Amino acid sequence: MTDRPSLLDDRRVLPIALGANWIYALPAADPARDGVLLIDAGPDYDGAWEALVAQLHAAGLNPSQVRTVLITHAHLDHCGLAQRWQQQGAQLAGSADEVSRFLLGDRVARHQADLVVRFMLEAGVPADKLEQIIRRRRDRPASPPRPESPDQRAARQRPSRERWPDVLRGTPFQLDRELADGDEIVVGDRRLRFIAAPGHTPGNAVYLEEAQDAAGASLFSGDQLLPHITPNPGLHFHSRTQRFRSLPAYTRSLERIATLGAQHLYPGHGEPRDGSVQDAIDRTLSHHTKRQQRVLHFLRDGPLSPYQVLAKFFPHLPDARLWQAFAEVIGHIDALVERGEVVEEESESGERTLRRPG
Ligand SMILES: [Zn+2]
Repeated sequence: MTDRPSLLDDRRVLPIALGANWIYALPAADPARDGVLLIDAGPDYDGAWEALVAQLHAAGLNPSQVRTVLITHAHLDHCGLAQRWQQQGAQLAGSADEVSRFLLGDRVARHQADLVVRFMLEAGVPADKLEQIIRRRRDRPASPPRPESPDQRAARQRPSRERWPDVLRGTPFQLDRELADGDEIVVGDRRLRFIAAPGHTPGNAVYLEEAQDAAGASLFSGDQLLPHITPNPGLHFHSRTQRFRSLPAYTRSLERIATLGAQHLYPGHGEPRDGSVQDAIDRTLSHHTKRQQRVLHFLRDGPLSPYQVLAKFFPHLPDARLWQAFAEVIGHIDALVERGEVVEEESESGERTLRRPG
């Protein structure tokens, strides 16, 4: 035992900050014997691994003690370092469905991007606007512009909690253990439950640690629940014709999480908060309700294309934000269509129109 002040919180969780991400180390009562469990592998940028190891060391822990890394979802900033952990001897566990997409890396990203573009055209996004966006995405530099002075580089790499200091990398990886809803993960005296929470991504998950005492259960929420911002639903296609309706799935997952009795929020972005799970859920759901009410309001005078709804929502939207804003508006439309409050019609040429029923 050391007498250094512990960096672990009351529930023996070590929050680790890596650029804009937070990951969490959960050591067993005897970490040297039983190991440490990690929630999310962390983003992979220049210096990320070193920053992660330094934070473990500062808490008296060692990377070789990490036995299991639990993945919330296969976004680059959450699992970029997964393969690195595997090389260190840790086991990777998570949703197989989720990780198989990550494994295909760029191929899936490109295929998905093509489907999204087609879908945006059908939703009424003007072709010239779309053309500009495609060009900007294609010409986006893969690495930061060079040359760069040492001072510029130092400034870019200065630790910040709002952004990653460098470009994110992602190495494809395979899971050692595939988890299904309700599965338990045990490391020494620690027990966590895998909760499937599709929405943010199709195979998204959160992890729950039951209370060891009256302290209340902890929720490791990845991007499902964030303290300051409302997580963005993505656009995902299972196939050319089958789209995953992400926001309705997200809402169902959130309503289910609300019944789990978790109190303490350990999010993938933003500092962990005691006793804040219900607050974050209420805030997110009420934000969605308000936005969906606005969509209904816009449709009161007659049918609109999804893009026309978007243009009413965000009249001064810069083109660079179109993709993200489009995904959000489609999410709200999906929720209204599922509840029967909006009817979606498709013309023979594939153009979509929305209207109030009746
Ligand atoms: Zn994410």
